[in-house]
Amino acid sequence: MEAALARNLPHLDDDLTDDAHRVRSALLARGLETPLVANHLDSGDRRRRIREAFTDIATALGLDLTDDSLRDTPARIAKMYVDELFAGLDYRQFPRVSVIENKMRVEEMVLVDDIGVVSTCEHHFVTIDGSARVAYIPGERIIGLSKINRIVRFFAQRPQVQERLTQQVLVALQTLLATEDVAVTINATHYCVKARGVMDGNSRTRTTALGGAFKNDASTRNEFLR
Ligand SMILES: [Zn+2]
Repeated sequence: MEAALARNLPHLDDDLTDDAHRVRSALLARGLETPLVANHLDSGDRRRRIREAFTDIATALGLDLTDDSLRDTPARIAKMYVDELFAGLDYRQFPRVSVIENKMRVEEMVLVDDIGVVSTCEHHFVTIDGSARVAYIPGERIIGLSKINRIVRFFAQRPQVQERLTQQVLVALQTLLATEDVAVTINATHYCVKARGVMDGNSRTRTTALGGAFKNDASTRNEFLR
């Protein structure tokens, strides 16, 4: 079943790393993968289709695309979507993660705070801006700290809901580190709320995903959430 699903999804190429493949399978198995369909478009096709579609949007808004300032906007948007804002839809962009054996026998919580999160709300396609805190308790493996930032960024570079983003980072790290003992919290402002002036424009949303000891042990959880 899982194999059949995977065949129908885009970007499952032979050139995916084992890590990318395992993370994707883990997300599919838990129902946490971003909803995707196989459209078989390469990135050049995607840019072209988006450029054309955004030309329609701008024209429908009454913008004059012959104006110097606006002329290249559809192409800029297309490039930004495919290569930057939504690059995380393509598992070929999954960060190369060097997980190393825990020879130093680190047993205490490793915590990375204030990881910048810039993502895009999939309901309105505007910015989600905030920060993440990620912790794990090393078992057999440890991971370079900058790699945690890169994994957060990979999943942030998708149309997202904050809850799913939080869970995806959790499952990716659990898979790569071969431990359940991972915790992720994201605190963010949604510009769809702010820009549209709904109630409190300065409100922030906090989402938390806890695994293993962070879920089951109150003192570990409190140390993380403190
Ligand atoms: Zn939104």
